Amino acid sequence: MPETPEWIPNERILSFEEIIRLVKIFCDFGVDRIRISGGEPLVRKDVERLVSLIASTPGIKRIGMTTNGFYLEEKARSLRKAGLQSVTVSLHSLRRSRFATVTQRDAHEKVLQGIKVAKEVGFDSIKINAVIIRGYNDDEILDFASLANSENLNVRFIEYMPFDGRKMWGMDKVVSGEEILSKIKKLYNVIQLEREQGSTAVNYKFEDGGGEFGIITSITKPFCSDCDRLRLTADGKIVPCLFDTHEYDVASLLRSNASDEEIKDFLRRVVKLKARGVESLIKESSVASLHHVRPMYVTGG
Ligand code: SF4
Repeated sequence: MPETPEWIPNERILSFEEIIRLVKIFCDFGVDRIRISGGEPLVRKDVERLVSLIASTPGIKRIGMTTNGFYLEEKARSLRKAGLQSVTVSLHSLRRSRFATVTQRDAHEKVLQGIKVAKEVGFDSIKINAVIIRGYNDDEILDFASLANSENLNVRFIEYMPFDGRKMWGMDKVVSGEEILSKIKKLYNVIQLEREQGSTAVNYKFEDGGGEFGIITSITKPFCSDCDRLRLTADGKIVPCLFDTHEYDVASLLRSNASDEEIKDFLRRVVKLKARGVESLIKESSVASLHHVRPMYVTGG
């Protein structure tokens, strides 16, 4: 996050009714999975009601959430009850002081407590997302692996992408998936799992004990060829690809009495305009040519 984020006025934020109308339209196209991310979804008032509305939309098979975990302790139970099936917590350091420095909050214990409560209430899946940044937390790779193994969690190691709010990204700070895996293999015997189509991660389990981990090689081995995601921002923009410099305003259509068919036509056009993704950008130019597009806290990943 930047030090002074730009707050969006309330009237620009999509209402639950507008979101659900779009979810229904997405379902007509065959979408069956929704992930609520952010910004931070748990600061949205009555987010449980949104979860419940999405979960009960015909056609939706899976609903997950990515959160910074700050309010998870208080909300895990009600979210589970509302129909949330999986939760992913962004936790980029296991060291309290480091965590406080980057998040500007001394909330490490609170987030760990949130993960504990999430385990108690029985989500189908709990994942920890850790973006590995050279010089910041690359000395914690084994600590994260050990957490996954001992606590039976799924930790996902993510290559650093140029989407940070303070524009600090540089190729010298990227720790490759290969390097992450080789560090873990020095301590653990691991088994690679079959990759599900469209999955962002290559997943592994430990030969001994529980837990799994995934490696998201978004820079060194991107997975654009079967990427089938679309992103809808809080203020009603469709972002087809994280590296797309364009975004497409569906909010104004929703608010101008457009019919469902008109919105569907718009979405068909937007999908066709989807950028070719990071894989093509690197092939056509180089990794060094990647540049900051929009911060991840706007699109939520
Ligand atoms: S760069 Fe774009 S197309 Fe490639 S995986 Fe990311 S979002 Fe999908």
